[in-house]
Amino acid sequence: MSTATTQGGPQLPQERRLVTEIPGPRSRELLARKQSAVPPGIGTTLPVFVTHAGGGVAVDVDGNSLIDFGSGIAVTSVGNSAPRVVERVRRQVGDFTHTCFMVTPYESYVAVCERLNELTPGDHAKRSFLVNSGAEAVENAVKVARHATGRPAVVVFDHGYHGRTLLTMTLTAKNMPYKDGFGPFAPEVYRAPLAYPFRWPTGPENCAEEAAAQAIDMIEKQIGAEHVAAVVIEPIAGEGGFIVPARGFLPRIAEFCRANGIVFIADEVQTGFARTGDLFACEDEGVVPDIICTAKGIAGGLPLAAVTGRADLLDSVHVSGLGGTYGGNPLACEAALGVLETIEQDKLVDRARHIEEVMLPRLRALRERYDIVGDVRGRGAMIAVELVRPGTREPLPAGPVAARCHAEGLIVLTAGTYGNVLRFLPPLVIPDHLLEEGLSIVERAIAAASTV
Ligand SMILES: *Cc1c(COP(=O)(O)O)cnc(C)c1O
Repeated sequence: MSTATTQGGPQLPQERRLVTEIPGPRSRELLARKQSAVPPGIGTTLPVFVTHAGGGVAVDVDGNSLIDFGSGIAVTSVGNSAPRVVERVRRQVGDFTHTCFMVTPYESYVAVCERLNELTPGDHAKRSFLVNSGAEAVENAVKVARHATGRPAVVVFDHGYHGRTLLTMTLTAKNMPYKDGFGPFAPEVYRAPLAYPFRWPTGPENCAEEAAAQAIDMIEKQIGAEHVAAVVIEPIAGEGGFIVPARGFLPRIAEFCRANGIVFIADEVQTGFARTGDLFACEDEGVVPDIICTAKGIAGGLPLAAVTGRADLLDSVHVSGLGGTYGGNPLACEAALGVLETIEQDKLVDRARHIEEVMLPRLRALRERYDIVGDVRGRGAMIAVELVRPGTREPLPAGPVAARCHAEGLIVLTAGTYGNVLRFLPPLVIPDHLLEEGLSIVERAIAAASTV
């Protein structure tokens, strides 16, 4: 049996190639099987079944090669089957697959935590521990904050997304599809306004100051700052529609937290690991979180997430108060080390900035040409277009525009509280010609939607 050849990864031909309609006949067969084996609660954005992926493409069972503007929701930032990840995971899978780090530990877990403590914002003493998913990271960060402060309340923001477990679904803002019918929810969760420049009632100029004042007023009047354990915020709201909070908002909230003994938790699950043109999105405004939650881009697709934070907070929890069977699985830890090497050695932070420089001007030009393009925003390789009904701010559903892109062989995702945002999360290793070709598909889809 040969194990030497891989067909995915960067060696995959970097081209868009459609040989059937999308989805093709073999994907449609598999979709029928999926529909009888998997509940509809597990949705499907684009029903092509993938056999290989790498660089900026994914290849399906019918032989179509699609351009990837999704990275499996900001996960494969280093590309699918990135060589340094594959090599490390291959070696590890032959050595051992699991011991449980809490039973008999191994070096790679510690090495990942050391790297996170070095690389995350702030030069204070830090600790990290590893779990399996973004939701689990956020949930654990809240556990730590409550334990360290002895306070119950947690403050989150409009348009926030933090996961699907009971606590993180409660922290999430949007009812459908995340919360509808899944209550009752966890107690002691309070929601504050987010500085959303495009939709701020008095305009983007006043947005940061007014939103921060409203959030702080809400905390002081409705909860009492001394009862708040933590504020949890995404530095750029992901599922909420790639909302970049107006400049000044995040530092003001962080400063209020510091002054009141509230743990400032940055949920960088989607924004982390070079995605936004910084290693972490908080760096853009020099915000230093007390705790930072990471996942998605951390391990190139292997399930891993981390909680990194001030040593005094994390050390406040008693022995064995944190953990989980699989947290920091050795394959995932090796993958994470491979991801961090790749980001550094291939200068992927710079690549993310380059992607922004290619995408933003072309998308901003669309805003001039088509009045359904209300807003174009984002940083690095986390860029979005918010669609509106012409001449208004009323949301225009992004689904039909995404569907046109899918039919042309471009994987794009939608987002937004109002479902009217097209979001782009290309792998940072996508070649320029695919980036440009994908943008041309988006342009055609928006042009077509403008004439109906
Ligand atoms: C995806 C996401 C989560 C949840 O991560 P899972 O791994 O799906 O549990 C939490 N926060 C943010 C900002 C996310 O984008």
